[in-house]
Amino acid sequence: MDYDLCVIGGGPGGNYAAYRAASQGLKVVLVEEHHAIGEPLHCGECLSALAFQRLSLKPEDSFIERNVKGIDIIMPGDVRFRTRENGYVLDKVSFERHLAELAKTQGATYRLGERALSFSSDAGLAIVKTSLGEVRAKVVVDASGVSGFGIKHFLPNEKVIYATGLQYRVDDIETTDFLEFFILPRYAPHGYLWIIPKKERSANIGLIAHTDGKAKQLLEEFMINYRLADKPRSRIFGGLEPASGPVSKTYFNRMLLIGDAAGFTSPLFEGGTHLAMMSAKLAVEVVLKALERNDFSEKTLAEYQQMWKKEFPSYETLLKGKETLYSFTDEELKRIGLLMPKDYETISLIDKIRIGLRLITFDNDLLRKGVMEVFNSFAHSRADHYGW
Ligand SMILES: Cc1cc2nc3c(=O)[nH]c(=O)nc-3n(C[C@H](O)[C@H](O)[C@H](O)COP(=O)(O)OP(=O)(O)OC[C@H]3O[C@@H](n4cnc5c(N)ncnc54)[C@H](O)[C@@H]3O)c2cc1C
Repeated sequence: MDYDLCVIGGGPGGNYAAYRAASQGLKVVLVEEHHAIGEPLHCGECLSALAFQRLSLKPEDSFIERNVKGIDIIMPGDVRFRTRENGYVLDKVSFERHLAELAKTQGATYRLGERALSFSSDAGLAIVKTSLGEVRAKVVVDASGVSGFGIKHFLPNEKVIYATGLQYRVDDIETTDFLEFFILPRYAPHGYLWIIPKKERSANIGLIAHTDGKAKQLLEEFMINYRLADKPRSRIFGGLEPASGPVSKTYFNRMLLIGDAAGFTSPLFEGGTHLAMMSAKLAVEVVLKALERNDFSEKTLAEYQQMWKKEFPSYETLLKGKETLYSFTDEELKRIGLLMPKDYETISLIDKIRIGLRLITFDNDLLRKGVMEVFNSFAHSRADHYGW
């Protein structure tokens, strides 16, 4: 059977693409190399309430473990500030399975335990050779995550930088209704650590950073320092995340790249679920237009890149802000933390004036080193800028 759309990968991006396309009446097939959707888990599992709104999804009890009210950001010297915005800690395995069920209910076919191996296209169709045969479709959405099916085929020389993530599920600890993100370069060089509260006194505790193979050691040291090392651990998982921004090109003849496969992660805190699903939505919109015209050429699919560039924050600015953040010493990071309002939803004009005056009069060195770029990065790590 020939399909309209073949989706490669059944993560949040792929499942949501399959759901959106099938609900528009397209004949969709999704190929996932694992035998079960959602596993192995490689995620801290938090997603903002705004993401649900934007994606027209209902947060349901079957996959919500906890409601959270925002993020506590912790800088060296235990300097803290709190940003308020509502969101959820998911049971992400159940969430992804829920998305897959939505897609199947709309008629999408799922082929699990089947790995996409190669791609070719002729005048009529795209052909994806798989471990179990082949799939023929008018167009392919590559949602294969960091394994980068499309990048390997179309952009073999692309330089993608990956950060390493590692996480424990830890039980029997005190948690609050806020995510805790620690910017402590000593334990998470060029990255950060988190305590994400789950239900019943458990939490995901992890890091994502450039660790030179020392992720486990660094996370262990953090847990010892925060008196978490002796708590029971029920699960360990990890993975890579693209950390250099979107790849140079995300549209090709008969193929679009979405989610991690396109390099879409939030530059500061590396969240990628919101971006994966929104890029799925945009890709499906472009696929629908291509179907109408019966034209799946690179030229027609190019609109996808214009759309996400318009929708997503400017990665150049954000990556610059991230670089600047990690050029500060612990002592400077502590002072940056002290400049921030302690608890805010939006930073008021009065706070902005206070910070500006403080920078000009006492913290001029921070200003010269580019602290404004860092503030910009923080602002863009909020949900409305696809931070989570
Ligand atoms: C430790 C860690 C913690 C994280 N925490 C968060 C968080 O709290 N919030 C957040 O928003 N983001 C978080 N992220 C990032 C988030 O997990 C990803 O950005 C998100 O899952 C990307 O979704 P995706 O659908 O693009 O790719 P993925 O979720 O990676 O899904 C890709 C799928 O494709 C399949 N696949 C790959 N190659 C093939 C192939 N050749 N054939 C068939 N199937 C294939 C894979 O098996 C996988 O199921 C975290 C990442 C890590 C590593």
